[in-house]
Amino acid sequence: MKIPPRRRPSKTEIGIRLKPTNPDIWKELEPITPASVTPESSPARLSFEEIHQQLTTLIGAEKISTDAAALAVHATDKWSASHLPDLIVFAESTADVSAVLAFAHRNRIPVTTRGAGFGYVGGCVPVNGGIVLSTARMNQILGIFPEDGVAIVQPGVITHQIQDAAHQVGWEYPPDPASLKDCSIGGNIATNAGGPRCLKYGVTRNYILGLEVVLANGKVLRTGGRLHKNKTGFDLIGLFTGSEGMLGIVTEATLRLIPKPASRAMLAAIFPEFSTAAAAVQAIFNAGHLPSALEITDSFTLAAARKRLGEHVFPAGNAHLIVEIDGRPAATRAELEELHALLLQLGATFIERAPDEASCERIWKLRREFSFSLRDTGLTKLNEDIVVPRSKLVELVTFARRLQEKSGIPIACFGHAGDGNIHTNLMVKNYEDPVVRTRADAALNVLFHWVLQAGGAITGEHGVGLAKKPWLKQAIGDVSYALHRSLKRTLDPHGILNPGKFLDS
Ligand SMILES: Cc1cc2nc3c(=O)[nH]c(=O)nc-3n(C[C@H](O)[C@H](O)[C@H](O)COP(=O)(O)OP(=O)(O)OC[C@H]3O[C@@H](n4cnc5c(N)ncnc54)[C@H](O)[C@@H]3O)c2cc1C
Repeated sequence: MKIPPRRRPSKTEIGIRLKPTNPDIWKELEPITPASVTPESSPARLSFEEIHQQLTTLIGAEKISTDAAALAVHATDKWSASHLPDLIVFAESTADVSAVLAFAHRNRIPVTTRGAGFGYVGGCVPVNGGIVLSTARMNQILGIFPEDGVAIVQPGVITHQIQDAAHQVGWEYPPDPASLKDCSIGGNIATNAGGPRCLKYGVTRNYILGLEVVLANGKVLRTGGRLHKNKTGFDLIGLFTGSEGMLGIVTEATLRLIPKPASRAMLAAIFPEFSTAAAAVQAIFNAGHLPSALEITDSFTLAAARKRLGEHVFPAGNAHLIVEIDGRPAATRAELEELHALLLQLGATFIERAPDEASCERIWKLRREFSFSLRDTGLTKLNEDIVVPRSKLVELVTFARRLQEKSGIPIACFGHAGDGNIHTNLMVKNYEDPVVRTRADAALNVLFHWVLQAGGAITGEHGVGLAKKPWLKQAIGDVSYALHRSLKRTLDPHGILNPGKFLDS
């Protein structure tokens, strides 16, 4: 049975070309069940009206929307792909999520989970239509428990709210994606989000002690809990963290908190060249320092920032390095002096000191302007969060310059130097022009091949989603790819969870 078309097809924006909304929301949902597994007999296909009506009976009309404006909002994230869902479910509880998934599983209906929609790779774009399940209303911090060093949260809580709540009791939730004022903790878990402080403190995975996950068939799994150590069975938390909504839907998380460091301080230095700033990164580690953040910026980005913020903000020089440290106040003060002397010795031509919280925040505020400065250029920013071994930072930027010359596309590099996770942004003029787009895609292809050859990774924190799908197999290899697919088949035999993403051909 076909679902009758109800509205004009979705518009595909720039980026990969997606097919228009398929009036039959199952058609593209070919299960990836191998021939050896006998699929359950297929149910009769429901019409759109039947789906709408049955969902309404299951969870209530006030949790379902087919409003055109809402559908449009839920068609995209911060990448370039767009595809309308057929309807949106605003789940309010684990029971809602469970009921919707059990129903979708029985009836083979695609379900794409959406946190805040601030992803950078098209991860929550419902490319096969069907249901978008929003966690926006599951936005409660269920408790902050300093005595156990944990926070228990629902998936729709915005990340900075967790940090703010932890700070109120003198504790800290360290993962700090730059989007933390907008993105949800569920999205962070599903993408294993990182940020500047992950150099010292680790990524989201390092802070997940327990998860409640609704599986594709609607069953509710609880794994881990308030324990800081627990080696019982396989690491299922690791399996679901970073699974990009393809293995289950996170409905609750127990997060590890740490005592908030009593003080922090920063140095922001200008270097004549990127290579001297990159050498400084190595020298800082070799001198025994483990900064909480170590961020590097190239000349293209600095030029854009000077244009936006004023020439005086960053004195002359082709590279910028931020070094942040934290700890007990006396230790922080002493280390700041040591680092200041070291940076001068390493060739810094200008160093700004930020000895306290307020001055650190001022420097971070400037750092957050870099993205906006690049946006001001009017060029389309293809933001690739590639990772290279730290020793290859200079090689990466030298390669980026060569790629810029060959392709004619300016490339801006900045990011988490300490992790080798440098955001390499191809700044494309007229990206909507098919000829330009083909050239940009070819340049991306060259970049990713180089990264893999250099022993790097195609994504350090944003995830694969749609954006990196073409390179996944090459990045992880045939054996790992086959294992990924077999895990997916086991947990989601009908392929209803986030279909069309990186495991579907
Ligand atoms: C300006 C900007 C700066 C950014 N900076 C960083 C950064 O520093 N570090 C970083 O890591 N990322 C960064 N990002 C990317 C993005 O913010 C992260 O990927 C974030 O984790 C996405 O969260 P979200 O709630 O917006 O998720 P969404 O975009 O809604 O979804 C992302 C993925 O998670 C899945 N998902 C969401 N919720 C759940 C759930 N409850 N259960 C299962 N799956 C779920 C979705 O299906 C999708 O696959 C940045 C993005 C922007 C726009």
